[in-house]
Amino acid sequence: MMTMTAAISDVAKYFDDMSYGPAPEADTEARAWLARHASGFGHFINGAFVPSASGKSFDTFEPATGKALARLSLGGKADIDSAVSSARKAQAQWAKLPGHARARHLYALARMIQRHARLIAVVEAIDNGKPIRETRDIDVPLAARHFYHHAGWAQIQDTEFADHVPVGVVGQIIPWNFPFLMLSWKLAPALALGNAVVLKPAEFTSLTALLFAELATAAGLPAGLINIVTGEGETGALLVDHPDIDKIAFTGSTDVGRIIRERTAGSGKSLTLELGGKSPFIVFEDADLDGAVEGVVDAIWFNQGQVCCAGSRILVQEGISALFHERLKRRMQTLRVGQPLDKCIDMGAIVAPVQLSRVESLVKKGVAEGATLHQAQIDMPKGGSFYPPTLLSGVQPTSTVATEEIFGPVAVSMTFRTPEEAIQLANHSRYGLAASVWSETIGLALNVAAKLAAGVVWVNATNLFDAAVGFGGKRESGFGREGGREGCYEYLKPKAWLGRKARTVSALPQIRTTVGEFSQPAIDRTAKLFIGGKQARPDGNYSRPVVSPKGKLIGEVGEGNRKDIRNAVVAAHAASGWASATAHNRAQILYYIAENLSGRADAFAARISAMTGASTSAAKAEVEASIARLFTYGAWADKYEGVVHQPPLRGVALAMPEALGVVGVICPPEAPLLGLISLVAPLIATGNRVVVVPSEPHPLAATDFYSILETSDVPAGVVNIVTGSAEELAKSLATHNDVDALWAFGTAELSAMVEKLSIGNLKRTFVDHGKATDWQDRAAAEGTLYLRRAVDIKNIWIPYGE
Ligand code: NDP
Repeated sequence: MMTMTAAISDVAKYFDDMSYGPAPEADTEARAWLARHASGFGHFINGAFVPSASGKSFDTFEPATGKALARLSLGGKADIDSAVSSARKAQAQWAKLPGHARARHLYALARMIQRHARLIAVVEAIDNGKPIRETRDIDVPLAARHFYHHAGWAQIQDTEFADHVPVGVVGQIIPWNFPFLMLSWKLAPALALGNAVVLKPAEFTSLTALLFAELATAAGLPAGLINIVTGEGETGALLVDHPDIDKIAFTGSTDVGRIIRERTAGSGKSLTLELGGKSPFIVFEDADLDGAVEGVVDAIWFNQGQVCCAGSRILVQEGISALFHERLKRRMQTLRVGQPLDKCIDMGAIVAPVQLSRVESLVKKGVAEGATLHQAQIDMPKGGSFYPPTLLSGVQPTSTVATEEIFGPVAVSMTFRTPEEAIQLANHSRYGLAASVWSETIGLALNVAAKLAAGVVWVNATNLFDAAVGFGGKRESGFGREGGREGCYEYLKPKAWLGRKARTVSALPQIRTTVGEFSQPAIDRTAKLFIGGKQARPDGNYSRPVVSPKGKLIGEVGEGNRKDIRNAVVAAHAASGWASATAHNRAQILYYIAENLSGRADAFAARISAMTGASTSAAKAEVEASIARLFTYGAWADKYEGVVHQPPLRGVALAMPEALGVVGVICPPEAPLLGLISLVAPLIATGNRVVVVPSEPHPLAATDFYSILETSDVPAGVVNIVTGSAEELAKSLATHNDVDALWAFGTAELSAMVEKLSIGNLKRTFVDHGKATDWQDRAAAEGTLYLRRAVDIKNIWIPYGE
């Protein structure tokens, strides 16, 4: 009787507090795997584990206990050299395999991940400190999905990407927050499309990469395709600098991304950067509040907030702010921080003591700058690097914690009144990775989603990912996409550009004959610049001569300077309505330009002949090709559209091509009319506004073009033209932080300079490294190759159902 009473009171007690007991996942297999490597891990090069050539090594630690976990090799130059040469050899054979054979290999890797899912999940949780619930239910299944999805792309590569070839050998550098998932995001597309890889994992979390190397070998992946060199930032830098690497794919901090952009400038290496973020999480008055509160949990306490796209900036509409914060604090109180292998916890450990102190110091700074601190008063584990769920409310939009990436379990919050204010606050950031919008009014949510500067927007959801849906940022969150068709293009290069030869650059022609002739001269005139729809005198009031190949002065154009570029950029920004004009409208205007150009075809041909010495028929052919090219992009304007993805959830993800914004264009010296049209037309067809520097030796076709623009209904500011020195004006455009992208065609030195100087706001660059394009060759000079570079894909996730 006594026992029964005690049992009943126990039940009542448990029922009352509903607390969880520990539910640890077994780590026997993972510890046995670590024990097998107790003497230390080598690098994985050419299908085998090898120690560092230098013999140097370093320890990796368990974040939840601070204890040493394993000894890793420290990669140096010799290790990177040997990994790159092994990748180079393997890539040649791998690319020759039929897509179906590569698809089978990727399929085998996906199956291997699934078969060893538990081991990978446990090793990841131990090594990174994140909860097993997340590695088991999110990281590892998503990684397998990436290999399956990309096995599919390998299978259909020959038809879907017939006009492209693999990039070659790819250097990949990944961070510590999603070690295994980031590895799969990088390896799967690279391998699927015929590349070989040298990957450097983060020094804090290399273990699952090494485990994957073992599993890939067991799955029969040929040696040399995946090489893993462990080490520190310096090891990554050696990989970045290696001359035999064709592409760098990096995920990590914006600071390091910037360094990599600078170091690869001019090398011809292709580059994708997936960097930091400070993503807004916008809650409107009509949101499902409980849903939104749960959304915050997934947005900022998932993976201890160490997520590049974490919804770390909560913006709440004023009327519901008090209620929302009250519910959020109540929910914070129920979160559980604990040992990563405990299946009942919500948050594990921060990756390393250094990251923990960074989070602590940023929170202190937030408080010092006036924020109100709230931390969940919950049991915290002893030892290890743990930090409680934290909310800093009432922050100022300009405060450090509202602008800097904290990369820890810390949300900041502020309020707004109107949707316009929410958009302004949300976009008030140098980043542009992701955003989350909460409203039950579909019209409001989608209207806001379209206006947010972010590569990914989740409507009434957060942190959704899928291999079919591209991921990546805008602004200082980097460029390039991972996943989906757009992610595949990042690992391919166009066949049509393979044969391009170095451009022969001749010095600007000098005036040799100035003797007047006994005929009626043309009325003397100096062409002005074209800014904001008007002809404008250059700021410096200087002009430069335009000289024929025979040395005859044939005209003068304005010498544009930095101030003229600034004015042109202001005018281009003021024309932002162009991006939201209908595609039909943009198409009509492109056709209208073509029509007006056609009306003056002979005059343009004569001008081209006079400037370049081209024969009359060649000059006429250039004008005709320009007219046809305008038609091509008129045609594409309403056909270069997005797609509707159907990721594995009840809902869709809309992949929408979005204009980059204001784009600088440095035209090639050759083909003065066709070169300009070939670059400007795809940009304006997709809604960009441009600041164009025409061919430096032959600018008169561009200045003649002003009158065509004036009579073709092109809105003021959509096309701005500044004549002058290509190098000087490119410098001004590259360093201008309100220019979103820069296309530059000319010398190899110009390409290098543009890439190097564009690091300020990490603008997208499109350069030719001094290789000449045959502008008459449609395969190389027009179409989707250019349209793809004129837009960013924004993915808007819209789950639906009750
Ligand atoms: P980093 O950007 O330094 O590291 C990312 C990867 O780059 C790691 O593999 C790192 O190696 C490597 N690396 C570091 N320096 C260089 C270099 N000069 N050249 C080539 N590779 C390099 O991030 P951290 O790990 O240092 O974290 C610092 C901060 O960055 C965090 O607090 C967070 O704010 C942010 N971050 C953002 C991430 C994101 O996904 N957006 C991911 C990780 C961090 P190693 O690990 O050996 O240093």
